[in-house]
Amino acid sequence: MAIGRNRCARVAVLAGMLGLAPLAHTATPPRQSDDIATSQGTLRITPVFHGSVMLEFDGKVIHIDPWSQGDYTGLPQADMIVITHTHADHLDRAMVDKLKKPGTVFVGPPAVIDTLNCAPGCGTVEEVGDTEHKTVLGIGFDGVPMYNLVYGPAPGKPFHHRGVGSGYVLTLGGKRLFVSGDSECTPEIKALKNIDIAFLAMNPPRTSPPAEMAVCAAAFKPRIVYPYHYRGSKPEEFEAALKGTPGVEVRLRKLEGEP
Ligand code: ZN
Ligand code: ZN
Repeated sequence: MAIGRNRCARVAVLAGMLGLAPLAHTATPPRQSDDIATSQGTLRITPVFHGSVMLEFDGKVIHIDPWSQGDYTGLPQADMIVITHTHADHLDRAMVDKLKKPGTVFVGPPAVIDTLNCAPGCGTVEEVGDTEHKTVLGIGFDGVPMYNLVYGPAPGKPFHHRGVGSGYVLTLGGKRLFVSGDSECTPEIKALKNIDIAFLAMNPPRTSPPAEMAVCAAAFKPRIVYPYHYRGSKPEEFEAALKGTPGVEVRLRKLEGEP
């Protein structure tokens, strides 16, 4: 069942009864999905909002860090929900409850699985820590440490402690897609190899600013990179800083603010 479709149908019926032309659903911003060819068919990537991304692959719908500030009208429910860490813009229990269905598989680091605490109603949960590898529903997961090097509420107190959250490299039909979660540009990110698609957060003071994340992207050279989780920053600065870097294509999407 797609969320919101019933509501649209009811509005259309009501409009018909009143003799009005059906209204377009104005609450849904234009979505821009990208299709990537893999060895197991098409991977469709739909950036949703802030740190939320939807993937469709091999007949499965995968929601990453779904947050209810995004507009999920018309988007399908999840075969898999991947959550990087427990902050409210990533682990949003209300959104999880809307997107889950019988059999939904949850993937996240142990702190996320503990916080979800959703057995028995949650189907399968799979812990993948920030240095672990696991295959879940035929999708490879490699944890990537997600943490602050310098940013925090006070010196020595990071917003994101190392070892709690995790970014992930997902391997989908041979293509490798990285989601950073709320990480600064760490040595582990710079050392990533053979990344086809990357989502990089750039949201100071929680994570690195765009220019710093551009240095990071230039180091590991994702073939396609989407700035995400950039509230208050200008992803255009990231794009400008990477201009002329061979082999890296920046894709800007409107993922924050009013539609
Ligand atoms: Zn966070
Ligand atoms: Zn966040």
